[in-house]
Amino acid sequence: MNIILLGPPGAGKGTQAKRLEDRRGLVQLSTGDMLRAEVKSGSDLGERARGLMEAGQLVPDELVIGIIANRIDAPDCKNGFILDGFPRTVAQAEALDAMLAQKAMGLDAVVEMKVNDAALTERIVGRFTCAGCGEGYHETFKRPVKDGVCDKCGGTEFTRRKDDNEETVKSRLQAYHEQTAPILPYYADRGLLLEVDGMADIDEVTRQIDAVLEDAAAG
Ligand code: ADP
Ligand code: ADP
Ligand code: ZN
Repeated sequence: MNIILLGPPGAGKGTQAKRLEDRRGLVQLSTGDMLRAEVKSGSDLGERARGLMEAGQLVPDELVIGIIANRIDAPDCKNGFILDGFPRTVAQAEALDAMLAQKAMGLDAVVEMKVNDAALTERIVGRFTCAGCGEGYHETFKRPVKDGVCDKCGGTEFTRRKDDNEETVKSRLQAYHEQTAPILPYYADRGLLLEVDGMADIDEVTRQIDAVLEDAAAG
């Protein structure tokens, strides 16, 4: 199954993508994670992306399209993937369609995670991640069972994203509404768009995603 998780920054895409990976054997393709790896490595691509990411603006389409085109060719994507954070513009959605058509692949579902803007700032500002395994946490909504120790790998080092601050969140939300929301009708027109309530708690969102994907698979 090839799925897109779509929603504003902080909607819970990464959290749910990791669960889908574990439970359905799909691979998570997060353009945000890939871009952060490029920035960290100091590559030319990373240097081009860094300032825009820190300002909460989208990086140029051709840059992320190139990254995804490379990644989607890898053998592990044949078993199905979850796109997290891509596409984010209509041009990216069109490029994705062309890419998949060329490989005789297609999309099975686009899951929109609906969350109020007011809740997103709190989610993003409280977000932190295990440096060892990448497990995501939240100060209020998803604390490790034992303070300061990762539930998954036992690691004790955590990181926060540089762009996860109140100031940058405003630009990221604006970018979502202006540049990303227009792809919702694009997928609705193709009969692929499914909705879940991203305001519900994490387990409930997982249940809703399972339910809509089962309906989609049943046709
Ligand atoms: P979030 O999970 O909070 O929505 P991401 O990790 O997906 O954030 O993205 C972080 C930043 O990386 C974005 O603000 C943007 O600068 C850049 N980025 C990620 N994916 C894309 C994309 N598909 N197109 C353009 N920019 C992107
Ligand atoms: P995205 O990838 O869409 O930017 P994340 O999955 O990183 O979003 O979630 C943003 C923050 O909100 C994280 O700290 C995560 O632990 C938390 N979170 C995710 N889903 C929920 C939820 N349904 N309710 C409350 N907090 C959530
Ligand atoms: Zn960990």
